[in-house]
Amino acid sequence: MSETLTEVKNLLNGGEFLVKSSNFQDVFTPEDLNEEQLMIVDTVKSFVETEITPIYDRIEHQEPGLTESLLVKAGELGLLGLAIPEEYGGMGKDFNTNSLLVENLAKSRSFSLSLGAHIGIGTLPIVYFGNEQQKTHYLPKLASGELKACYCLTEPSSGSDALGAKTVAILNEEGTHYIVNGQKMWITNSGFADVFIVFCQIGGDKFSCLILEKDMPGLTLGAEEKKMGIKGSSTRQVFLENVKVPKENLLGEIGKGHLIAFNILNIGRYKLAAGVLGGSKSALEQSLKYAEERQQFKTPISNFGAIQHKLAEMTTRIYALQSACYRASDMIDNKEKELVAQGKPYQEAIMMAAEEYAIECSLLKFIGSEVLDYCVDENVQIHGGMGYSEELAAAGAYRDARINRIFEGTNEINRLLSVDMLLKRAMSGKIDMMTPALAVQKELMSVPDFSANEDSEPLAAELKAVQNAKKAILMTAGAAVQKLMKQLKNEQEILMNIADMLAEVYALESTVLRTQKLITNNGEAAVAVQIDMTKIAISDGMERINLYGKHALQAFGEGDELRIMLMGLKRYTKYDIVNTKDARRRVAAKVLEANTYCF
Ligand SMILES: Cc1cc2nc3c(=O)[nH]c(=O)nc-3n(C[C@H](O)[C@H](O)[C@H](O)COP(=O)(O)OP(=O)(O)OC[C@H]3O[C@@H](n4cnc5c(N)ncnc54)[C@H](O)[C@@H]3O)c2cc1C
Repeated sequence: MSETLTEVKNLLNGGEFLVKSSNFQDVFTPEDLNEEQLMIVDTVKSFVETEITPIYDRIEHQEPGLTESLLVKAGELGLLGLAIPEEYGGMGKDFNTNSLLVENLAKSRSFSLSLGAHIGIGTLPIVYFGNEQQKTHYLPKLASGELKACYCLTEPSSGSDALGAKTVAILNEEGTHYIVNGQKMWITNSGFADVFIVFCQIGGDKFSCLILEKDMPGLTLGAEEKKMGIKGSSTRQVFLENVKVPKENLLGEIGKGHLIAFNILNIGRYKLAAGVLGGSKSALEQSLKYAEERQQFKTPISNFGAIQHKLAEMTTRIYALQSACYRASDMIDNKEKELVAQGKPYQEAIMMAAEEYAIECSLLKFIGSEVLDYCVDENVQIHGGMGYSEELAAAGAYRDARINRIFEGTNEINRLLSVDMLLKRAMSGKIDMMTPALAVQKELMSVPDFSANEDSEPLAAELKAVQNAKKAILMTAGAAVQKLMKQLKNEQEILMNIADMLAEVYALESTVLRTQKLITNNGEAAVAVQIDMTKIAISDGMERINLYGKHALQAFGEGDELRIMLMGLKRYTKYDIVNTKDARRRVAAKVLEANTYCF
């Protein structure tokens, strides 16, 4: 165990993974899912296979009424109400169950976005911020699919700068209605939505949120956007011209719309990660199938090392993403239980819990969407010319994937946000970064410990590598803060480097802990391939952390101080020599034999 990091047995708070070490017994892994959760997986899979896949082309062409009727069918199966409390017609399931829904829906491509936007950004604002009357009125119908919802934040002149929205709501003279004027853009589900969650400036400058309905006079829609991918999902502009909205439709409080917008986006980011996990698995499955079928030089292309490398790398990245995703999901669940036990109402508790892990949600959003992009890209490559043809699914999956780096906060915004939130937590004393950062500084000046790792714990070297990588971050971020102080916020390149280091560490630690748990429960021989994947991930991940750290340090360090830090970085990103080529061949053999992602 590391000398400078404190071991904790219990739940870590948001962002604390950087300064504390976790025990594998405390970490949830996909192998820990219970029977009820697995039954939901079966329901979702069978819904997608029977109801969506056979008519996918019709969804892709936006056949009128089709997505709406499928949403109603999903509602009949209870799939729209998993996050809605039972008293409002839902099932009130935990966060992990909701993650499973989103992950397993991914195969339904555009439909997964329609359903995801309805149950997520469309419905959750009312679940978490609605008053009793609003919840009773809307939630049962949103759970059944009788009403469909959309979320209207973005405007032509405000995307990443969401609070710069110009849509205005003015209370009328009678004091009964808000008169809303403005324009929203890129609104998913708007073509068929009944309920519009609209962010606006009440009185011109108080950012707030109103519930609008489709038949309110003055609410009109633009034409369907012609998009690069997810063509089956409805995306339009929403025009608001003197729309008269009863003042009872105010959601939350005047001037506190940012709490709704950002908390819902935060949960959306996590869910996006679960969705792209499902999409990545699906791309891998397409690749495995094609690589076995396609023959060149009188042999299936799956026999070529170059193809096996790609299959193994896709599998390894998915394994790491899956480990990180379910670890975070369970932390949110546990925090919610803790808050409920302290007397918080369920809705408030789950929102606060997700907010607690906002750093992890942002990290997962950008790692996840980039894992998906890697997988869909290599999927096209494995398909060769057929990857470029619309006849097979690879081309569509490639186009569909790209949006995930753009919405729910672009990946740049999420990188910046994750570091900003971490530093704010450190400044406010919520996370003690100072003590471990000072310990790292002291350690840097001492003689390095090159003794062999004698810890008998499984994957001790890999765990030590992760702990050291945390020190690399503490050293880099600590030095950047010390040197640049308030100027750091203007040095986005450095912040992005730190965000990348953080994301690597979170994913790598989650991977090691999951595999340690697997070894303990099943023995090394039974999980040899998971061990291979963990070693590949650590070996490559440490190299990347070194590179990101180097970019950051070289951007602001100088002279001897820089040289010492670069040596420290090298020391903290050191790892055993691994034959990753052989390890990847074993990973590829396993997934080829299973013909699916089998972890
Ligand atoms: C298919 C689709 C569906 C969508 N669905 C919805 C929906 O249902 N509801 C909704 O409200 N919105 C939705 N959106 C909007 C989406 O959330 C925005 O497109 C996204 O937030 C980016 O905003 P923007 O397009 O204005 O890009 P911009 O904000 O103009 O960004 C352009 C580029 O500049 C970068 N950038 C911006 N600010 C900074 C900064 N401070 N520092 C560094 N880089 C920066 C961005 O990362 C990006 O690379 C959807 C978009 C699409 C394409």
